[in-house]
Amino acid sequence: MKSWASSTRVAKRDHSKPKAGELAYRKGDILTIVETGTGKGHYMARHNTTGEEGLISTTNVREREAICVDPSLSLMPWFHGKISGPEAVSKLLPVEDGLFLVRESIRHPGDYVLCVSYSSQVIHYRVIYKDSKLTIDNTQYFYNLLDMIEFYSKHKGAIVTKLLKPKEKEGTKSAELELSKTGWLLDIRELTLGGSIGEGEFGAVYAGDYMGQKVAVKNIKCDVTAQAFLEETTVMTKLQHKNLVRLLGVILHNGLHIVTELMAKGNLVNFLRTRGRYVISHIIEDVCEGMEYLESKRLVHRDLAARNILVSNEGVAKVSDFGLTKLDCKASDKAKLPVKWTAPEALKKEKLSTRSDVWSYGVLLWETFSYGRQPYPKMSLKEVKELVEQGYRMEAPEECPPSVYALMRCCWEAEPRKRPSFQKLQEKLERDEKDRGRERDGKRENADPGLNPRSSVSACFRL
Ligand code: ADP
Repeated sequence: MKSWASSTRVAKRDHSKPKAGELAYRKGDILTIVETGTGKGHYMARHNTTGEEGLISTTNVREREAICVDPSLSLMPWFHGKISGPEAVSKLLPVEDGLFLVRESIRHPGDYVLCVSYSSQVIHYRVIYKDSKLTIDNTQYFYNLLDMIEFYSKHKGAIVTKLLKPKEKEGTKSAELELSKTGWLLDIRELTLGGSIGEGEFGAVYAGDYMGQKVAVKNIKCDVTAQAFLEETTVMTKLQHKNLVRLLGVILHNGLHIVTELMAKGNLVNFLRTRGRYVISHIIEDVCEGMEYLESKRLVHRDLAARNILVSNEGVAKVSDFGLTKLDCKASDKAKLPVKWTAPEALKKEKLSTRSDVWSYGVLLWETFSYGRQPYPKMSLKEVKELVEQGYRMEAPEECPPSVYALMRCCWEAEPRKRPSFQKLQEKLERDEKDRGRERDGKRENADPGLNPRSSVSACFRL
């Protein structure tokens, strides 16, 4: 299968005098490789801005870089909040045709004003909020400011000029510019949307095709939510691991489209519920490897659960949903924490760490070995919180090997320091894998899966 994910490159230097068949580009331009088998040292590539195609030298380009997780990165850098008309004018000076900003109206609270520079003056357009939509001329209606600015950047419509350049609010950086510079901004024209494959908290997830690769697309229409999701995607640009769902890029159109690799077998809960007993081989190892990678980057996932694990067509499990993933360890919004998966110290003292992720991993093991059951069956969140705090722990799922249950209990140590790290868990799982191999080779005789804890993990992994 063509791997589009690794086919975006950034030009390292100018190539302004191309020979016949070669592509011209400048340092920093974003190029998409369309074919690699074009001869040694060359790729066939398409220029993301001009759309032209031609040969490029492999040494003249580099991979995309991660985007700095920067709270000042804004989808609406042109939004200046509540400022007066004269203040807006002073910000748009010296006048430059098409320079614009949006402010909140002081005279009409709740309404916005689009201020545009044109022909040595600043024109103020009142944006009216009507029937949950925004409009300037009672002809064109928009769901939010992002859509409105996108429209008037492409069409003059009823205003004096197309919007050409945002006047950025001090202290903010344009997400669009940053995404485009770093190669993470994708082109809506290359995307073909298919059917819905899942329902997220903020809307449906669709299957799609982007330049020949199967993708999943999440569209967030609300501008405030889109801004919050932007942080999730900037975290994802830093992460590259075979057991983490890979971000391919984002599209700024109709809000925010987040494009990731398609995980054809969907989320782990549904996968386990529908595939029967013998599919859990490697799943817990896959998740553990993905989490070990996050641990090595000192990132805390905060929402590890089977619903946030996706399974690829080949049966590889990958961690997804990095919405709550953070470097810092303070839970700023306790209400958001999923009680049945969250460690007691995190619920109580708001202390989140890799070791609280390990607790969640224990719950995920329980979900996996009970084939997608809801943890703490029939217990309310309040009961779970109180009882777990007093030392209550879930029983082993039916037919769960004792050694796997022992692992869960290690993950559920009340004292975070006593829980194993993901690295230790990974080592343990690897040892089990080796034992399994030895057993298969017949080197081990008289193995009794019921008595030997390690080999009983092996027994349950056997397909
Ligand atoms: P949210 O975090 O907004 O609630 P999710 O990202 O969890 O939404 O997505 C909801 C559902 O959509 C998932 O449970 C899964 O079934 C499906 N889904 C999400 N991303 C993908 C993907 N990359 N490939 C396949 N299915 C996906």
